[in-house]
Amino acid sequence: MEILYNSTRNNGIRVKASEAILKGLSEDGGLFVPDHIPMLDKGLKDLAGMTYQEVAYEVMKLYLTDFTEEELKDCIVKAYDGKFDTEAIVPLVSADGAYYMELFHGATIAFKDMALSILPHLMITAAKKNGVKNEIVILTATSGDTGKAALAGFAGVKGTRIVVFYPKNGVSPVQEKQMITQKGENTYVVGIHGNFDDAQTGVKRIFADRELAERMDRQGFQFSSANSINIGRLVPQIVYYVYSYVRLLAEGKIAEGDKINVVVPTGNFGNILAAFYAKNMGLPVGKLICASNDNKVLYDFFRTGIYDKNREFVLTSSPSMDILISSNLERLIYRIGGEDGRKNAELMAALAEEGKYGITEEMQARLEDFYGNYASGEETAETIRELYEKTGYVIDTHTAVASCVYRKYKEETGDGTPAVIASTASPFKFTRSVMTAIDGKYDAMSDFELADELASLARVPVPAAIEEIRTAPVRHDHVCGKEEMKKTVEGFLGLKNIGH
Ligand SMILES: *Cc1c(COP(=O)(O)O)cnc(C)c1O
Repeated sequence: MEILYNSTRNNGIRVKASEAILKGLSEDGGLFVPDHIPMLDKGLKDLAGMTYQEVAYEVMKLYLTDFTEEELKDCIVKAYDGKFDTEAIVPLVSADGAYYMELFHGATIAFKDMALSILPHLMITAAKKNGVKNEIVILTATSGDTGKAALAGFAGVKGTRIVVFYPKNGVSPVQEKQMITQKGENTYVVGIHGNFDDAQTGVKRIFADRELAERMDRQGFQFSSANSINIGRLVPQIVYYVYSYVRLLAEGKIAEGDKINVVVPTGNFGNILAAFYAKNMGLPVGKLICASNDNKVLYDFFRTGIYDKNREFVLTSSPSMDILISSNLERLIYRIGGEDGRKNAELMAALAEEGKYGITEEMQARLEDFYGNYASGEETAETIRELYEKTGYVIDTHTAVASCVYRKYKEETGDGTPAVIASTASPFKFTRSVMTAIDGKYDAMSDFELADELASLARVPVPAAIEEIRTAPVRHDHVCGKEEMKKTVEGFLGLKNIGH
């Protein structure tokens, strides 16, 4: 059945999947959502015999209904190939009573690769289908990982350009080095004086600038978004929940129909929303466990029904989750509010104007499958050390937040349902935090010495993504104020002020 996408702020705006991917965000500022969530049309046993790529097709075809079989399979084959360092694409590692779903085997060793290795292909295909002649300009705000994964995905892709803004002092040294060494004539990386929310707010403002959009169109450009609000990011993320479930089934770890709980270290709420969609497609998922760091806006929201971003922004050891406005939460709010665009728009207006909104008791009751908790920096470090000492398995700081919250959940509830923990980054991406969590003595070493040390400790090779940046030259050294983002983009595109 064909699925159309409407805006979370206006039920009347309805577009095809390919149009939603091209637009990224709806014109009214809303996010595109499918008009219904499709059910899996293959049995779990059938899916259990399939490769990652095959499962990806079975899941994505249900959402991207205006893509032909050939188009979609072509995108999948180009995305999930030798860029990943394991044929499984997403291996499951059993450690200390949980399954770690390793989402970090792609080009930039973080989970954003799962979606961003396919998004450029979905976008180019969507452009062709819709007769788009303009060059597509990807504009992205990043708290670290999205930026590099988007750059890696779009670099050198014909018909596209990509501009990435990151908080100059808000990403790890390895993350920054990965971005500013990016190759590709169509790439542009800029540090801003501000935090991630400033970067994201600036990007949203540029997207909403009609005058700029018209000027760009006259000069052969149009914006699209690779941020996690794009439906082309969300849909590929549903795949690995289905895949992990059927792998556990194939390996006899669970029986068909058994429930699993999923634990997700959360920032922008995209990854866990994908798990929610998977559950609503009929995948036997019990609890959706939402793990936050000290920026625990979501924990407070699940507890009280009030979303309130008016609080201090904390820089933590899990920077990719240092977020006070979880954009993708809007899709959940829209759904639990009865899919009423007008009502949802009012809540989002309150968020924009007062920085907070509250939901009704009825809406709160629809959140019963979610459990929220958080881990402090100290607890995160302790979790890394304890797991390593107990099992020899080394996890990164983001994954450790999830692992810690999972322990709290089990202690609170006694729920022994098998759990899949989303492991969202390689420990090599956050080496210093990981190694000093294991032993304070490591703080004296350089980042690259630490990588070598980690490799011998965890008995795994240093990933290619880290080896590459040891010697790579810096290619981007642009910095701007948070008010100068628009001017920066105009400069990169060489836009003229014609028509004024
Ligand atoms: C982006 C990211 C997250 C948060 O994912 P969301 O989909 O934004 O909730 C968690 N961990 C890592 C390593 C990330 O890069």
